[in-house]
Amino acid sequence: MSEYKLSEESLKFLGSACEAIGPSGFEDEVLRMFKEYASKYADAVIRDNLGSLIFVAEGSAERPRVLVAGHVDEVGFVVTGITKEGYVTFTPVGGWFEQVLLAQRVLIRTKKGKVMGVITSKPPHLLTPEERQKVVKIDQMYIDVGATSEDEVKEMGVRIGDPIAPWSPFTKSATGKTIMGKAFDDRLGAFVAVEVLRYFKQGGVQHPNTLFAAVTVQEEVGLRGAQTTGWAVDHDVAIVAEVDIAGDVPGIKPREAPAKLGKGPTIVTYDASMIPNQRLKEFVIEVAEECGIPYQLSVVARGGTDAGRLHLYKTGRPSIVIGIPTRHIHSHVSIAHVEDLENAIRLVAEVVKRLDSGTVKSFTVL
Ligand SMILES: [Zn+2]
Repeated sequence: MSEYKLSEESLKFLGSACEAIGPSGFEDEVLRMFKEYASKYADAVIRDNLGSLIFVAEGSAERPRVLVAGHVDEVGFVVTGITKEGYVTFTPVGGWFEQVLLAQRVLIRTKKGKVMGVITSKPPHLLTPEERQKVVKIDQMYIDVGATSEDEVKEMGVRIGDPIAPWSPFTKSATGKTIMGKAFDDRLGAFVAVEVLRYFKQGGVQHPNTLFAAVTVQEEVGLRGAQTTGWAVDHDVAIVAEVDIAGDVPGIKPREAPAKLGKGPTIVTYDASMIPNQRLKEFVIEVAEECGIPYQLSVVARGGTDAGRLHLYKTGRPSIVIGIPTRHIHSHVSIAHVEDLENAIRLVAEVVKRLDSGTVKSFTVL
């Protein structure tokens, strides 16, 4: 059986999925793209009532039910008002650092279509020396859509509550090995989930379980989609594919984020929302070593993932996070390594292939 390979066609899908607008609670455009891409590889498609989509692949046994999940929502904003002069005010959806926002282009999705704008504040010429030293707060920023009055903005279709997302084209870097774009957190993880499904179905890969590849909603506002997805899937074990902080960025110490780009996916040993089942963690490490898949161990002291909810489903479910080291998350442009993405998909696929009922039960035996 041939091992998983990332194709140009799949990468093209990932690029367009990353460019789509989908802050938490406004994921339909992205979900429709995933549905079109992955439905043909699924035996069934389930949607929970919060919005997450779940693609089912039947294996040789009904149980264990193995959930592989990545979230499709991104950090963004919503419109809070329009000024008399024709500027749009906004509030963040998810965690943003003000310093990465000014002079960035954004798209507002309105009933009439998408409106391009730029995030602005008072120009440097008018700032006092003291003001220049300070980070401009979001409540002092505006989106300029190029209008000259409130009426013009209303005419464009902009209303209070409309979602706003970064505008940022998906590109390969000059090295050809890394990719740049927005919403890598966590469309890379959602992509991992559906690629495992595609690999299984296209390659006729056997698996002793039922695979549920889920693309979840509303992670960035408190892991909300994961909560309802658990109930829709009734999983016995969960693997969450997420971006992990790449520490090979000036200013980050190894003890803060040990992972580096190009050195393999991470196995998250600890984060603020979950301490993984230790047997499952060791199992994933063994599979990576057995298959010769490079991996890195990581700790995310602050921040959580969908696994934070999924491991608490019912009486508790063994869960693990596989990370894709990514630079500059929660900004307009993140950077990740194509080989890490490919190896994350390989690792998840190899783990799922081995998750039979006895193995999953052994994770919780004392
Ligand atoms: Zn995330």
